[in-house]
Amino acid sequence: MNNKGIALATETECTGCSACYNACPTKSIKMVSSDEGFLYPLIMDTCVGCKKCENSCPIVNVNHNEIVKKRAYACINEDIDTRLKSSSGGVFALLAHHILKCGGVVFGAKFDVDTQSIIHTIIDKQENLDQIMRSKYAQSNIGKTFINVKKCLKDGQKVLFSGTPCQISGLQAFLGEKYDRLYLVDVICHGVPSDVLLLKYLKYSCPKKNITEMNFRDKKKGWTDYGMSLTTDRQTKWCPKDQDPYMQMFLRDFCLRESCYNCKTKENDCADITLGDFWGIREVLPIIDDNKGTSLVITRTAKGEKLLENIIDKCKCVEVSYEDAVKYNRSEYSSTQRPIERDQFYKDLNQMSFKSMVKKYVSISWKEVIFSKLVELKIIKE
Ligand SMILES: Cc1cc2nc3c(=O)[nH]c(=O)nc-3n(C[C@H](O)[C@H](O)[C@H](O)COP(=O)(O)OP(=O)(O)OC[C@H]3O[C@@H](n4cnc5c(N)ncnc54)[C@H](O)[C@@H]3O)c2cc1C
Repeated sequence: MNNKGIALATETECTGCSACYNACPTKSIKMVSSDEGFLYPLIMDTCVGCKKCENSCPIVNVNHNEIVKKRAYACINEDIDTRLKSSSGGVFALLAHHILKCGGVVFGAKFDVDTQSIIHTIIDKQENLDQIMRSKYAQSNIGKTFINVKKCLKDGQKVLFSGTPCQISGLQAFLGEKYDRLYLVDVICHGVPSDVLLLKYLKYSCPKKNITEMNFRDKKKGWTDYGMSLTTDRQTKWCPKDQDPYMQMFLRDFCLRESCYNCKTKENDCADITLGDFWGIREVLPIIDDNKGTSLVITRTAKGEKLLENIIDKCKCVEVSYEDAVKYNRSEYSSTQRPIERDQFYKDLNQMSFKSMVKKYVSISWKEVIFSKLVELKIIKE
């Protein structure tokens, strides 16, 4: 609590959604990078104690949504080029295309070449859609995006906002009221690494070169055997996910934001539609699987169900039970377990070269990771 009586989410709970930053009428909140490279709000002396920030914090004010029956689908975009360019089954591109066709705007995450980091941006033309397609596995900086969303809504535009579940609940808390023309789409999220980690990795992988494009989920060798591709002015380098140090740090969960290990948003996801990878499709619906990507689509509201109806003629879509849909995707309903290595990971990142980080954290075998997890869970003794 500051001296004006403002209490925002604690450091371990704050998701960095930036709702407070967008809500402050006197510009008295700065989003400041922590030692780990994650953004947190800092309230400055100019604060007048109006509490607009506190009232916009989705952690302090949990928004309890009406309980509706979730419906789950296996879905693939019939346009093969778009699907191959997408991380999963290319459903996001279809939803975005529909909103743009209706004259609306779409917000999503892009790789920013100038800062070599992930930021949220707005697009209003189909030709700009590609920049906000695909998963970027680092926390995106929301900046003043929520203010911009509100402005578009007040101007009467249709808006599709896509982001992580915590960003969606931050936006809802910031807006404070429901808009029929706002469509909220989130991703099943297992957590986000910081942009400091991403930047160190980029410098290590392509020293002295600016990355002009990156694809965390390049499907060159298929959806399940995806790899990381980094493009500079000279070439594109592709590395299978099992050998890429960044993806290994991410997939072993060493580097996620503290709040991701105890995600408060998952229990109360307020998106209209949630998109994810339909891992397990081979078992549930093998007939649909071609290893080019299948999306898991969960509709959570009647509005989400209607939005899906608008694109149904452009995709192959089969309804499945929620249980089958999430059988291989725990991230839909539970937080990622915090590995013991997380305590030291970011301390080391500040002191060690990325090369030494790779040696320490990535060269260890999966056997060792499983062993340390079993020790942590007190199933076996060290
Ligand atoms: C950090 C992160 C973790 C994820 N973890 C899982 C998981 O554990 N299990 C699972 O099934 N799916 C996960 N996903 C979602 C999955 O990777 C696909 O993004 C999703 O299935 C949509 O695929 P698509 O082909 O329909 O669309 P795509 O074209 O791949 O669309 C991706 C959408 O996500 C948005 N987005 C991308 N990066 C970010 C970001 N950093 N922050 C906010 N929004 C972003 C884009 O704007 C776009 O709207 C995760 C995504 C992210 C960003």
